[in-house]
Amino acid sequence: MAEIRRLSAHTINRIAAGEVIERPAAAAKELVENALDAGARRIEVILAGGGIERIEVIDDGGGIAPGQLALALERHATSKLNDETLVRIESLGFRGEALPSIGAAARLTLISRQQGQDSAYKITVAGGVLGEVMPAAGPLGTRAIVEDLFYATPARRKFLRTPRAEAEAAERAVWRLALAAPAVAFRLVSEERVMFDVPVQDEVGRVAALFGRETASALIPLDAERDGVRLSGLAGPASLSRATMALQSFVVNGRPVLDPLLRMALRLAYRDVIPAGRHAVAALRLEVPAEALDVNVHPAKTELRFADANGVRSLVMGAIGRVLERPVVTGAAAPGLNLRPPPSYAPPSHASLFSPPSQAKRGFAEAELVLLTPPAARQISVPEPEPSYPLGAPVAQILDTYILAVAEDGALVIIDQHAAHERLTEERLRGEFEAGRVASQPLLLPVVVDFAPSDALRLVEQAASLAKLGLVIEAFGPGAVLVRAVPAALKDIDAAALLRDLAEEFLEDEAPVALEARLDAALARLACHRSIRAGRRLNEAEMGALMREMEVTPRAATCSHGRPTFLKLSRAELEKLFGRRG
Ligand code: ADP
Ligand code: MG
Repeated sequence: MAEIRRLSAHTINRIAAGEVIERPAAAAKELVENALDAGARRIEVILAGGGIERIEVIDDGGGIAPGQLALALERHATSKLNDETLVRIESLGFRGEALPSIGAAARLTLISRQQGQDSAYKITVAGGVLGEVMPAAGPLGTRAIVEDLFYATPARRKFLRTPRAEAEAAERAVWRLALAAPAVAFRLVSEERVMFDVPVQDEVGRVAALFGRETASALIPLDAERDGVRLSGLAGPASLSRATMALQSFVVNGRPVLDPLLRMALRLAYRDVIPAGRHAVAALRLEVPAEALDVNVHPAKTELRFADANGVRSLVMGAIGRVLERPVVTGAAAPGLNLRPPPSYAPPSHASLFSPPSQAKRGFAEAELVLLTPPAARQISVPEPEPSYPLGAPVAQILDTYILAVAEDGALVIIDQHAAHERLTEERLRGEFEAGRVASQPLLLPVVVDFAPSDALRLVEQAASLAKLGLVIEAFGPGAVLVRAVPAALKDIDAAALLRDLAEEFLEDEAPVALEARLDAALARLACHRSIRAGRRLNEAEMGALMREMEVTPRAATCSHGRPTFLKLSRAELEKLFGRRG
């Protein structure tokens, strides 16, 4: 047996580097947090080569004394922790780990000058080896330069994604911190492009600058309190949603977080008003008494533990609920055209609700929602109802993509076959999923799908939740995943393509996205795989079957992406199109 030895500081730092500095975004985040903790009024971040080549963070904060530069690079050395019980943490940093971790994995140079000094001083650490402190030129404040990230830890380097993906993640990390600290001016340059350059602002001004003015102008302010926890910020109306969670920001006691509890609370608050697979827009800020909050849950400090998790959840859901109860402004609606769709048909974006052409389109789809109620519901008093087929009979397929039909009431119906089928498949899968019984079909020949080793690992970690969707996978060597079974509704699909596509949902950068949200998005993707492609010729029986299913499926009028699945042109509308009527 080998002897037990203490690891060298060098090795310890490398191990920690793997935890604290997972990727360039983490290094950029730590450096900006240090600048904020140093009381900077202005912070500039420059990224090159996805932050792998270079990350530079310049601040005008208090600086580091020359005699402390080497200590700042030592592990567990911090100027921020006065109260070692870890109860009252008021700074962004407190673990004293970021600089030594970056220094162990990369080449890190600090140039810093404090008030009253005749020059700046600089120190470099490369792969954990410390250089000497030397005088240098530089303004008041600190400039941290990271070069060749992970050159000293090649194992980590292998797991990096493309420079573009790394750059995006780093940009997002800085963007989040800039949202959290509107009282500090920020400038972000990535690959020589100025991503944003914002002055000292108030909260609303900063959100407008970083969310985009048009989006921000639709947001509604909120302010609520419960048991000493205060929630403030801006949240979108039901008509505003996005394809990703990118425009959701949570700041807790000044710290940007990706907390699953908060995300889930937001998601639940909007669940009935935003279409499946779409996401609310919100910039929320919580002030929680320090003793009711534990930020020391994860080395990256992006997750929290609230003493009163239920209270926080109710606070968020209650405040958003009140925002959503406010009357919706419907713009210049044409008389008689109901622009306020029932909740589950909320249009995909604010813009499309207000732009005139899409108003017209929605008008057609929504006008007919009534007809789509299952026939039985409307004919309750008739003893033996005649079967009712509101969408009528198919007449032709055009461009191998659209079905033309004459509706029961004589109007012209145009169905987008792919969109319609996708909707039906999704509704069926969702029904099965909600009933907890997605039927699974074993593959005759299991399929092997290659991934980057880290992605394969993370996917396999999700095997249990994927199984709930009927997808059975297991690890197959370091960089591959074996697909054993697929959802029965999708039995003929390309299992490899399906898994790759789903991996996108499950490997999204924003790590702690609630599982429920992922499964939900995954369902929509599954549906898309199974669906009849646009461009496939259908016979009359197939067209008829699709239409009959649409008539009895709730929410069949819009596809999973929020677009209408069919248009209906009445006599009046046709006459208008031909100029027979004004
Ligand atoms: P932590 O932030 O957890 O204290 P770090 O390793 O990030 O640990 O930094 C170590 C120490 O270096 C900090 O406590 C702080 O005193 C000093 N420091 C780091 N960056 C800056 C900066 N930009 N301006 C002033 N001091 C800094
Ligand atoms: Mg720090």
